[in-house]
Amino acid sequence: MLDNLPVLTHQFAGLTIEGYSRAAVQSYWRIPELKLGFDIGGSPWDFTGTGTIFITHAHLDHMAALPAFVARRRMMKMEPPTIYLPEENIEDTERLLKVWQRLDRGRMICNLIGVKPGDEFELSREHSVTVFKTDHTVPSVGYIVWGKKRKLKPEYQTLSADEIRDIRLSGVEVSAEQRTPLVCYTGDTAPSAFDACSDLYLAKILIVELTFFRPEHKREKIHKYGHTHLQDIIDRADKFKNELIIAMHFSTRYHSDHITKSLSKRLPPVLKDRVKLWL
Ligand SMILES: [Zn+2]
Ligand SMILES: [Zn+2]
Repeated sequence: MLDNLPVLTHQFAGLTIEGYSRAAVQSYWRIPELKLGFDIGGSPWDFTGTGTIFITHAHLDHMAALPAFVARRRMMKMEPPTIYLPEENIEDTERLLKVWQRLDRGRMICNLIGVKPGDEFELSREHSVTVFKTDHTVPSVGYIVWGKKRKLKPEYQTLSADEIRDIRLSGVEVSAEQRTPLVCYTGDTAPSAFDACSDLYLAKILIVELTFFRPEHKREKIHKYGHTHLQDIIDRADKFKNELIIAMHFSTRYHSDHITKSLSKRLPPVLKDRVKLWL
C-alpha cells in the first residue's frame, strides 16, 4: 500500500481504530469493520475504499481532503462516497466541489447528506448512527455509532423454544430491538457537549478531543474557542463509563513525550487504565 500520510492503529473489542489527529494539522479516522470514517482533514491512500464519512465540522484540518477523496474514488471506479456533514455546510460544499470539478476537469460525484443534532441514520441491520450537538466556533456535531440486536422480550425469556414459536406464529412480536452505543466521536468541542449527551459517557469506545493540558492554559479561553482541557476530563472522571477512551487532537505546541509524561502523572486512577493517548 502507498504510505502517503501517518496512521496510528489500535485494536479493541473486535474493531480496528485507525487514524491521526493533531489540532490545526489534520484529523482523519476510520473503522474498517463498521465501513465508516470520521473527518477527512487528510485522506490516506489506504482509506480510499471506505465510502462513508461523517464530518464533524468544516475546519480545514477536518475536511480539506474531501475533493481529493471524491476524485480518487471515481478514478478507482468505486461507488460515489456518502458524506454526512452539518446541514449548514451543504450548500457551500456543493459549490466547492463544483469549483474543483472545473479546476480539475474531473467529475465530482458524491452523496452529501446534511445532519443536525437528534438525527439518526440506519447504516445496516446491525448499525445506526446518531448525531449530537457539540460546542465549537463553527457549526459542529458529534456522532455515535450504535450496535443493534433483536432480543427476546423479557416476558418470553423463561419460555421454551416451542412455546415461543407458537406465540410468534399467533402473530405476536416476541423480540424487540436493543441498541448499545459502540463508538462515540466528538470532533472538536468544549466540554459542555459532554454534559448535554449522556450517551457519550456510555459508548464502549469514546474518541474524545483533548487539545490542551497545561495548568497555566486558561480554561475559559479554551472553552470560548470550542476546545477541551485535561482538567475538564478530570472534573468528570466518575462519569466516563467507557471501556476505552482515546484522547486525540493534542495541540502542536506539545511534544509527544511531554504529553505522555504529564498525562500519566495527572490522570486519576479511575481513568488512567482506560485512556489511550493518540500519539
Ligand atoms: Zn480541529
Ligand atoms: Zn475545529
